[in-house]
Amino acid sequence: MNDKFNIVPLSGWTRAENKPLVIAGPCSAEGEEQVLETVTQIVKHCGDKVHMIRAGIWKPRTRPNSFEGVGEIGLPWLKNAGIAVGLPVCVEVANPEHVEAALKAGIDVLWIGARTTVSPFNVQAIADALKGIDIPVLIKNPVNPDLELWVGAVERLNAVGIDKLAVIHRGFSSYQKSIYRNPPMWEIPIELRRRYPQIPIIVDPSHMGGTRDLIYVLAQQGMDMGFDGLMIESHIQPDKAWSDAKQQVTPGRLAEILNSLIVRQPEVGQDEFQPLHELRARVDRIDAYIIELLCERMGLSEEIGEFKKNAHLAVHQAERWRQIVQRALEKGKNGGLTEEFILKLFQQVHNESIFHQTKVMEK
Ligand code: PEP
Ligand code: MN
Repeated sequence: MNDKFNIVPLSGWTRAENKPLVIAGPCSAEGEEQVLETVTQIVKHCGDKVHMIRAGIWKPRTRPNSFEGVGEIGLPWLKNAGIAVGLPVCVEVANPEHVEAALKAGIDVLWIGARTTVSPFNVQAIADALKGIDIPVLIKNPVNPDLELWVGAVERLNAVGIDKLAVIHRGFSSYQKSIYRNPPMWEIPIELRRRYPQIPIIVDPSHMGGTRDLIYVLAQQGMDMGFDGLMIESHIQPDKAWSDAKQQVTPGRLAEILNSLIVRQPEVGQDEFQPLHELRARVDRIDAYIIELLCERMGLSEEIGEFKKNAHLAVHQAERWRQIVQRALEKGKNGGLTEEFILKLFQQVHNESIFHQTKVMEK
């Protein structure tokens, strides 16, 4: 166990008496009314299950020419909406100018975004701007799966005296095609928890999943790991959002998600269950890979379909299929899988593959 960090527990600076601490709000502040209406609706639907409001003011976008945030003008919109519902508000800061503007506007909590955590220069510049100031800071993981870089950012902030600290796990970007926008790679925050149990971990299923449908499952997985909080993007009209439209949920849906979560109490026997969490995290990762590989396989089937179409070949080539099944049976048997399972599995794979090939041929 490492005790070099001096960190105040969440209960010392947030109103979340029980887990999880919930931060909600739109990806971006778009207008004064949108912010106020979203925040009002969130509190109306979720009541005291939400403890803090978020909104992006400066948006770090991958490509230029997309909406880059309303800028400073949005700070009072957010602050006033927070006052109206009696909740603290947080924004992303990426440089000392953002820090200064946010502090001047009375923003309660700051967060460092994933694209900023990757840069020690930027993180240090933010830390220097915060020296001697008592404000909580949340640190998103870097976009790349590098635990040391993440821990380094916590160290830099803690070293200038910021002790109300938590990290946000928002998944890691990956070049491989995936069902997730940013695959969770749960083993990384689990390792962080193992090494530094005093650092609170908040899970951001919105940026992990990238689509509305995945929010609940990922939030529950975060609770299953025994993590401490959730940051979820919510918008009054998600489809019309100026950024991250696909992953935002309405305040009503947010309430449904929060009400259906099963919250695990890791205080009870946390150490005992840790191996179980780790094993499940590995299983979840493998399951995600299986799906990714199947998607890739079906993509190849379509290319084959295209080729067969042009060469006037039949979709089903019996001999080729017999060989595929034979190889799978042998490989599976060596790994301890039953013949029945392999046959069933490959029958389904074959059906799906034929479906994809004929789709191309019929075009
Ligand atoms: C965000 O929270 O809207 C955001 C930009 O997130 P991230 O830094 O995780 O990409
Ligand atoms: Mn976003």
